[in-house]
Amino acid sequence: MSIAPGVARLLAPNASMMTGPGTNTWLLGDPPVAVLDPGPDIPAHVEAILAAAPRLETIFVTHTHRDHSPAAATLKARCGARVVGRPAPRDGLQDERFVPDAIPARDEVFAAGRLRLRAIDTPGHASNHVCWLLEGDGLLFTGDHILEGVTPVILVPDGDLAAYLEALERLRRYPLRAIAPGHGRLIEDPVGEIDRVIAHRLAREAKVLAALAAHGPATLDELLAPVYADVPADRHALARMTLEAQLIKLEREGRAARDGGAWRGC
Ligand SMILES: [Zn+2]
Repeated sequence: MSIAPGVARLLAPNASMMTGPGTNTWLLGDPPVAVLDPGPDIPAHVEAILAAAPRLETIFVTHTHRDHSPAAATLKARCGARVVGRPAPRDGLQDERFVPDAIPARDEVFAAGRLRLRAIDTPGHASNHVCWLLEGDGLLFTGDHILEGVTPVILVPDGDLAAYLEALERLRRYPLRAIAPGHGRLIEDPVGEIDRVIAHRLAREAKVLAALAAHGPATLDELLAPVYADVPADRHALARMTLEAQLIKLEREGRAARDGGAWRGC
């Protein structure tokens, strides 16, 4: 599916609760010479990438969760393309085969044919997360930093909610036209969407503080129901992870404390 001049989307066949309709793999250049987030190492998906981009030169990744980068190693072995991204953190949740040939510096610009991509640091969902901005166009490839319709899970200890919010604020300052997320459809109102995500996170933080005041000292599990009363129960296991990240952020800010497994407000 064509998204912009020289940008096409290939949907990986890995739909699930975590990945929504599947991972968006982006083909860059006309004809395509780069792929961004090659996705899971599923043979049919790798073949589809190689068929669409027989002259593949560069593989960009946003981060190394297993739904975004594992096809990179296979593609590199098949066609010798160079891999651009940050090394995988060691939290047991990453694509351990990921070995970058180039590690982008902050705001470094890379060429993909006639297109140019700027690496923007966006830690938070994952500590090695990079969003890629299509220079001169304003299309921002956000991986799991900004998604369509949902906010990403923040998994501690690699994930960091304060860093996530700081990165969102910083993204607002770039000339953005649209967001191409790692899962879901194109988002046409990038700054509005960033502001909605920030407002959502701050509203959730207010609920955490209210729950600590009403129920604290309380365990993570005891806080889950009052903080996420609006979220279906089948998503509470994911919500619990972000709640932990939220409490750790408040602890660092001196607004919450824990004694053993019990959290209280300060
Ligand atoms: Zn991810």
